[in-house]
Amino acid sequence: MPDIIQLLPDNIANQIAAGEVIQRPASAVKELLENAVDAGASEIKLVINDAGKSLIQVIDNGKGMSETDARMSFERHATSKIKNIEDLFRIKTMGFRGEALASIAAVAQVELKTKKAEDETGTYIEIENSVVKKQELIASANGTSIAMKNLFFSVPARRNFLKSNAAEMRHIVDEFIRVALSFPEIFFSVISNGQEIFHLEKGTLKQRIVQILGDSLNAKLVSVHENTDYMNIYGFVGKPEAAKKTRGDQYFFVNNRFIKSAYLNHAVMSAYQEMIAADSFPLYVLFVDLDPAQVDINVHPTKQEIKFEDEKIVYAFIQAAVKHSLAQFSITPTLDFDLDPSIQQLDAVSKPFTTEQKNETASSSLYQTFTQKNQAHFIERDNTSELKHWREFYEPRIPEAGSRNLETSNEQLIINNDQISSLGLQTSDFGITIQLHNTYIIAQNNRGFILINQQLAHERILYERYVAASHGKAIAAQRSLFPVTLQLSTQDAILLTDLMNDLNDLGYLIEPFGKDAFIVQGTPADVLEGNEKSAIENLLEQFKHFSSDMKFSKRERLIRSLAWQHSIKPGIALAEKEMETLIEELFNCSQPNIAPNGNPTYIEFKKDYLEKLFGK
Ligand code: ADP
Ligand code: MG
Repeated sequence: MPDIIQLLPDNIANQIAAGEVIQRPASAVKELLENAVDAGASEIKLVINDAGKSLIQVIDNGKGMSETDARMSFERHATSKIKNIEDLFRIKTMGFRGEALASIAAVAQVELKTKKAEDETGTYIEIENSVVKKQELIASANGTSIAMKNLFFSVPARRNFLKSNAAEMRHIVDEFIRVALSFPEIFFSVISNGQEIFHLEKGTLKQRIVQILGDSLNAKLVSVHENTDYMNIYGFVGKPEAAKKTRGDQYFFVNNRFIKSAYLNHAVMSAYQEMIAADSFPLYVLFVDLDPAQVDINVHPTKQEIKFEDEKIVYAFIQAAVKHSLAQFSITPTLDFDLDPSIQQLDAVSKPFTTEQKNETASSSLYQTFTQKNQAHFIERDNTSELKHWREFYEPRIPEAGSRNLETSNEQLIINNDQISSLGLQTSDFGITIQLHNTYIIAQNNRGFILINQQLAHERILYERYVAASHGKAIAAQRSLFPVTLQLSTQDAILLTDLMNDLNDLGYLIEPFGKDAFIVQGTPADVLEGNEKSAIENLLEQFKHFSSDMKFSKRERLIRSLAWQHSIKPGIALAEKEMETLIEELFNCSQPNIAPNGNPTYIEFKKDYLEKLFGK
């Protein structure tokens, strides 16, 4: 028998390796942008066609490459950034594995132009399937331009795996934003299908955040800044009022590298405890810098996880820094609202750190250095101001009694649709209706009563109406007398463009109106004139909230978002007639008993059950 083991040819080995590094256009964008940053560029331009499927080009004014380096850069494990194993623990660059260009060249047609400032001529290289097609000296600007065309042209299976242009473009924009946020001192421009979608002048971090995430944030950012010998943290967190229903705008960077960490996210969330509703997410853009030796970034290149030498210290540090900032902000004169008294009383905000506390809470020397420098966890009470009770603004919890009943007496509670319809529950059965806490409706019939959750019931009604609309019974739009223009962040503009057709069927007449802007010509009849803007902004937020739920189609998510958005929220008082209409429409639904999210819309309490409760 002959021996059977062979070395794979380079191009195949590269293609296999590329699968790890370049999963979609956005991963190539990230790698190329990071190379431009590592090359010390002060201006970086990204050009995209067809969401990166036909072209991704990054042009930088960085240090460029010599002719030999240009050729070498496409070899696997070819890097100028580390030389030995010790270097791994001193990494200051974004890349270091020397895999990106080799991977890109294995799965696309690549054209490289590069020139060092001190060289007379530049180098041009064309490479395809890891094979150099052309190499020549050319006249070129200082810096580097890498264009990759027809991604995955040689790997149709991977190409077919790509998502819609809108979806791939969203990934690209996400990656771009992460890089652009970390380097506000670099000018960035992004051109997609010939249109400039980002134009980010050099500036401060705050300016960069506002450029990217929206002007409206300008007054809603609180600066975070703490330095210790061990680590520094800086950046911005949103005031509680800037918290959103989705976790979109949350960015953590460790040594300028974007990371995802549920643990560190928790540290920030805990600093907001009691300041924001439990189901909302504060905005943050935070940079943690520490000795590279304390961090293991040597994880998979496309993974965003990170390992810290001492995670607990980093957690405590971040939490304290954010708390400190929020506490300081609350005493500044530009105060928009006051702290809830119950928060004022929390030790963390009402008392300065004492030496005992310090010793008690912090055994580590790091934590002590941190707290010694910052004893300002102190808020002066302002007795003259009216203290608002934040929590009153949030959705009330389901009353205790209801949940207890649910647990103890399942057999008595009829929340199953089949049972209800088989029992013939009719709208006309209901006599007296009462609203409780502006949230629930009690409707009496001769068998007992039902307790309706007004929001969930209304969501069910709207959901069925919108489903019908999407099957041809389009909802009539009410043309606005004064069409409203809407300026969105680029991310949201891409999303809205993607949803525009479906929204038209649902009664929203929206048209593009310049860069990231839209004009709202009409809305469904139930949106009040003047509220169009917030209606659409909230809708996008809610849609993103559902976006994590991959089991639903785009249309389904849109319908659910709309149903939620237009539903009567807790806290809204209803007139008798409105309650009757709600009940009537609910029982005209094909599935009156459950809300789109699966929760019951109402619970029935039968007379004999009520009697039993009182021992009869
Ligand atoms: P890595 O970034 O991990 O070193 P890459 O494959 O991304 O690996 O790049 C290989 C090498 O090519 C880099 O180490 C760098 O020396 C050089 N290089 C890549 N892109 C650029 C660029 N835009 N400008 C200058 N040099 C570059
Ligand atoms: Mg690189």
